This record gives sequence, C-alpha cells and structure tokens, in this order.
Amino acid sequence: MTHTPSRHVTRRALLSVGAALGAGGLVASPARASVPPAGAPGAGEGGGTGAQPEPFKTPESCGATAAVSSVDAYASDVGLTVLQCGGNAVDAAVAMAAVLGVTEPFSSGVGGGGFLVYREAATGAVHTIDGRETAPAAYTETEFTDGAGNALDFDAVVGSGKSVGIPGTPATWEAALASFGTRDLWELLEPAEQLARNGFVVDQNYHDHTAQNAERFSRFPETARVFMPDGEPPAVGSEFRNPDLAETYRILRTQGVREFYEGALAQAVLAEANRPTTAGGDEVPGSPMTAQDMASYAALPGEPTVSAYRGMTVYGMGLPSSGGIAVGETLNLLQEIERRTGTPLSALSEVDYLHRFAESTAIAFADRNRWVGHVPDVPIGELLSTGFAGERAALFAPDRAQDRPIPFGSPDGDYEDAAAAGIGQPEPREGQSTTHLNVVDQYGNAVSYTLTIEQTGGSGITVPGYGFLLNNELTDFNFVPVTPGVPDPNLPGPGKRPRSSMSPTLITDDAGLRLSVGTPGGATIITTVAMIIAGYFERGLPLVDAVAAPRLSSRNSFPEDADLGLGSSPTGAGLAALGHEIQDEDPGSWIGNASGVAREGAMLVAAAETERGGGGAARSW
Ligand code: GLU
Repeated sequence: MTHTPSRHVTRRALLSVGAALGAGGLVASPARASVPPAGAPGAGEGGGTGAQPEPFKTPESCGATAAVSSVDAYASDVGLTVLQCGGNAVDAAVAMAAVLGVTEPFSSGVGGGGFLVYREAATGAVHTIDGRETAPAAYTETEFTDGAGNALDFDAVVGSGKSVGIPGTPATWEAALASFGTRDLWELLEPAEQLARNGFVVDQNYHDHTAQNAERFSRFPETARVFMPDGEPPAVGSEFRNPDLAETYRILRTQGVREFYEGALAQAVLAEANRPTTAGGDEVPGSPMTAQDMASYAALPGEPTVSAYRGMTVYGMGLPSSGGIAVGETLNLLQEIERRTGTPLSALSEVDYLHRFAESTAIAFADRNRWVGHVPDVPIGELLSTGFAGERAALFAPDRAQDRPIPFGSPDGDYEDAAAAGIGQPEPREGQSTTHLNVVDQYGNAVSYTLTIEQTGGSGITVPGYGFLLNNELTDFNFVPVTPGVPDPNLPGPGKRPRSSMSPTLITDDAGLRLSVGTPGGATIITTVAMIIAGYFERGLPLVDAVAAPRLSSRNSFPEDADLGLGSSPTGAGLAALGHEIQDEDPGSWIGNASGVAREGAMLVAAAETERGGGGAARSW
C-alpha cells in the first residue's frame, strides 16, 4: 500500500474533532442538541498521547454540502473530517467503520463482516459489496446438530470456534477503496489507530455492553485482558486504550489487507478459531477453518435489490442479506394495501397505521424465511414484484390481526388467485447487535454501511495480541430446518454465507439521493428500516423523529416486540384490541439504534438517535 503525501489527510486534521471541523454543522433542533463540553473541540493535537476527549453527540444536523451519521461521535467526526479534507463518501465510510471498531468493538470490527451500499452521483449507479463472513469449506448442512440430528445448544455454539466465520470487514474496506475510494488505508485507518492507541472516553453504552458480557468474556483470558484490564468493566468516564488493536490497524495500514488473510494476522485468527484459549482450560469446540479458507476469502461486488416506492427507487442489499428483499416487500405491501383499501398511511390513526405496518412486516417475514438464503435461484424478482405483493396483500384485514405464523406465499409469477400456498413457519433466532453509518459527500455520492460481529461481543473470543473480537456470525444459519419437510435455504454449508437481516438502504428520486438509512438489531433491522421509511415518507415525521419513534417489530410470531413503552401505551391497547400481542422491551433495552441522512431540497439532514444507546451523532457541513 503506497502512501501518497500529496493526498495525505493529516493526523492532526483528522483527530482535531471540533474547531477544524465546525463539528456538528448547523444543529437543526437546538432543543435536542447536546452542548459540546467546554474544551472538547479541537482538543486533540493528533500526535498527543492523551485520550481523545469525548466529542458531543447530537441527533440532528443540517448542512448544504455533506452529512454523516452514526451511533458514535468519534466516528462521525472523523467521517466529516475525511470529507472536509477532500475524501469521498467511501473514504469517509471506511475511516468511520475503523473508528467504530475501536469505540464499538462489541458491535463491529475487523473480526466481523458487513454490507456496503454505494451510490455514485455522477452515474446514478448503485453498487454493493458483500463482506459477509463465510463458513469454512469443511462445513456441512448438519454442522450444528448432534449425532441424533438435534440442534446443538445455541449459546454453547456462540462461545466457540464453530460460530466464527471468515471475517469480511478488512476485505470490504479494501474492495470499497479499490473500486470507489480516492484515499488509501494508510490515511484512513490512522485516526482509528490513534484513538485505539491514545484512548477514548468510556460512555454508558460501552460500559453496559462490557458488563452484560463480563461473564462470558471472563471465559476467554485474552478477552478479559483486553476489554476488562482492571478485572471489571471500565468505568463510565474513564479512558480506554486498546494498543493491540492500534497495532492491528498499523499492520493493515502499512502491510495491507492481504496480511489479514494470508500473513501473521491470518495465522493468529486461525490459531484462535481452531482452538480457543479458555480460562481454566475449559474445552470449547474449535473451528475447522483452514489457511486456505482465510486466503480465499473475497468481499464480493454485487447488484442491489431494486424496488419502486411512491415514485422513488429503493436500493437494498441483496443476498446473502434478506434485508433488501424483505424491506422492499414490506414497502410493496404497504402500497398494495393502500391501493386495495383506498386509504393512505397518512390518513390512518396511529393504531391503524401500526396494525397495517405490522401485518405487512409479518407477511414479508413469512416469505423471507421460506425463500431467502445464500442459495441459487432465490426468486428475488418475484418476491419484489407488485403482482406478488398484490396477492399477499389480500391477506390483510383492517379490523383484525392474522394468526401467527402467517403461511408463506408462492412467488411463482401466477398471481391470479389470491391463495396462500405455504404453511406457517416459526421465526428463527437472530442476534441483537451491529452498527450502521451513513455518508453523503460533497460530490453527492452516498454510502449506507451496516457492519457487525453478530451478537454483542460476538463469539467472545479475542485474537491474542491483536485486540479484536471474532464474530459469531455462523449462528445466523438455522441449525436445523425451521420446519421439518420444508426446504430451508439457510442451513450451513461449505463456503456458504449465513442469511442476514442487515438492510443498508438508499432511496433515490429523479433529483438523486433522498434517503440513506440503516440500523442494528438482528431480525428487527428489517422492521426498523421499513418503519423509519414509512414514518418519514408517509407519516410526515421529520427524519430525526422517524428514527426516534417507538418501534413495533412484528416478525410473523407472537408476541411482537416493541420498545419505549409502545406496548403498554394507549396505542398498544388499541393494537391489542385488534388481536396483536405486543411485548415491550425491558427498561433500558431498545430496538435498533438507527441513523440516516436525507436530502431535503438543497439541504442534507443527518439524523441519529435521541435516546436509544445514549443517542447518536449526526454531523453536517
Ligand atoms: N447477524 C445479524 C444479521 O446479519 C446482525 C446482528 C445484529 O444486528 O444483531 O442480520
């Protein structure tokens, strides 16, 4: 990897998170905005050795030139600085993702994978990169069963080498920059390296994620050493350093990403996945991953899913994600139900709106669970067709919730008779972690990028000496067929990528980008992304309010999930009267810490959470 001085984004510029940036741009909602702590702006001298003070979070920011949003203020500041130093959206996205690997290491990092959707303004073309973790070549369909064909214990598999897929994030960065970037890893990973080396300020979220995982982290001495250096979760407000991760980033910057897949780093990943080091010599199963599995990993360029929505075009992530398909089908169903009933979402009461929304997502989940996986011949075009949506919309009743599970449909191109063909299937299990970022640059290019290590803390296994957690993404496979006798597209297989729900989404109209949006949250990702889109475009909510609104996640089983007290509110009671069974998240838990960027006329509006996870960080210029 060559360092090109003439294009160098200086460390001082990248780390100087306030004054040099005008960080935060014009804050659109002063009432919501946090006040930057005194002395925070510009505190970093870049080359210093002190921890970088915690930058301020703000959920909304408007600018005329460029915008970014994520859950993390360090990441959003670095992203905006990359743009202000002349980088493009892909450059900024990589730099942000690297920072998130430092400050959100339990949700993302080089030990995981993700999906990046990129729109090039000059051509209007939308490209995707599939950086999903991959099963070793030795995996079989019965990898997660015992000799009698029963599913292995889920939690035992999570905390073992068997859950670890070949990581895709370093290859994603390499592929994205090679195809669409203007800078190199030498420059773009430097802020993250410095942050890992010099430290950042621990917030409540970081502390809580460590505390929630303390027991399982203690099973792996390297994880306990790196993430609980004093033997306990780091205190809120303390400075946290991860010099091992800084070293990993330095290696990627100076030696390139191949080092991760074929060099000493690859050997370290392999050794730990093959034979995880446990406290007290506990035996946990290892992975059959080989050097060949690592060396042959590729982040794959691809085409997005495409669907039409209210005169706009929705671009989502294709296989192995089900996100683009399921979000697209949900939006198609909302439009078809509107056509059948003659009533737009905008004219409905909150109860009737959420009822229609929940029925639509439940139908979309019935279909994705039956038809979508990393297999050939997924009928993507039919699943996203208006004909199929029309047939499925016939199931909708305005005055009552359908029984769950709703039978899956038959996307066969024949939609004359409105008969549901399938049987009801229970919903498979998925994690609740991950992180998302959005960038719209000064050239009009846009990135929507969701990345993950699967559940919070991933496998719990840290690669010794390198400071990052390995994913447990392979537990996104179904361990056994969801329904005996019904083909299951999401069983494990050699070199296969587990089905995902991650839904980085871009929506355009004739004038260009309208919205970039995404979220963490396992299977709730699909419902959250669809709900933000419906809230913003159809319910008349400002983007920040569409992100902040209480969520309802109906995924074809009862109970349905809700957060921020929706289930116990009068609206929840109204939904219960229609037959819904809603369960609120526990206090302190939430569904999907989301973010987005919208273009509104000549302005860009960046939006992040107001409350979930302590709020997010919107920035603009
Ligand atoms: N593994 C999940 C997926 O790919 C994401 C993890 C999460 O958000 O919890 O859908």
